[in-house]
Amino acid sequence: MPAQLIDGAAIAAKVRAQVAAEVEKRVAAGKPRPGLAAVLVGENPASQVYVRNKRKACAEVGIESFGYELPKTATQAEVENLVRRLNADPKVHGILVQLPLPDGLDEEKVLQAISLEKDVDGFHPINIGRLSMKGRQPLFVPCTPAGCLVMLEESGAQFKGAQAVVLGRSNIVGLPAAMLLLHRDCTVTICHSRTKDLAATCREADILIAAVGRAEMVKKDWVKPGAYVIDVGINRVEDKSKKSGYRLVGDVAFDEVKEVAGAITPVPGGVGPMTIAMLLKNTLRGAEIADRA
Ligand code: NDP
Repeated sequence: MPAQLIDGAAIAAKVRAQVAAEVEKRVAAGKPRPGLAAVLVGENPASQVYVRNKRKACAEVGIESFGYELPKTATQAEVENLVRRLNADPKVHGILVQLPLPDGLDEEKVLQAISLEKDVDGFHPINIGRLSMKGRQPLFVPCTPAGCLVMLEESGAQFKGAQAVVLGRSNIVGLPAAMLLLHRDCTVTICHSRTKDLAATCREADILIAAVGRAEMVKKDWVKPGAYVIDVGINRVEDKSKKSGYRLVGDVAFDEVKEVAGAITPVPGGVGPMTIAMLLKNTLRGAEIADRA
């Protein structure tokens, strides 16, 4: 039986509508409109598109956004000084530094300079540290893994005692996704480029999150019948039938895996829209945290 399609675009629209309603409620009550500062260093075209999309999404839910662009020659001190200025700006409730940073800049130091209370990407080492510990609460959870969890919840996945496999251990997706599943009482296996038998490990999974960046790597015989499959990967593959010359595919071979999975996210239209929706939700949370300060 073909899998249930987990419609990330529809779930993201629901989250965005909730955020928009909350923003209007705040403003009507005389509270400040939430504001997001987006910092872009250098001219990476993909990063420019991501920042543009995030700012457009802010405008659609009534969140203010402020764009800051620094040249790729910007020094560590210049980037950190900008972050500190934004930390002190009361109109800014969330600071997003678009990654990757150009070579020569120390990403960890920049992320560490962001105020914990404005760390809407959830990448500050203290927020990640809290996420990784039992009984601690980060102020913010990274947007992509948080979006994966919302999609699983919305599509009826059972977490308690489930076997979960996460493909990928990056700081921004794989690792925090695994921590979130652990907090939901899954038994979690994290796979990476040195894992010996990926297919056999994946076949154990009731919940499988693929965040590797390898086009259509996860095949039908890697997936347990009925499993929930979340495909984070975004990969370009050549497609001469498209004007652009390429199309986007995930890390999962969607057409074959949908025949065996219980539920699956498409690419595009799955995790991507959720990531932005969770950023908006985190920015609203940043404003609520500032209310209490
Ligand atoms: P990274 O490159 O940082 O991490 C990839 C992970 O996959 C690493 O842990 C790596 O292992 C592992 N890996 C690589 N090759 C293999 C392999 N052949 N077998 C097993 N494991 C492997 O990527 P990200 O986590 O940043 O992103 C992953 C994918 O998700 C990308 O396609 C990216 O574009 C996409 N993405 C999508 C987002 C969205 O909003 N939809 C947001 C963020 C990312 P090791 O650690 O050993 O090197």
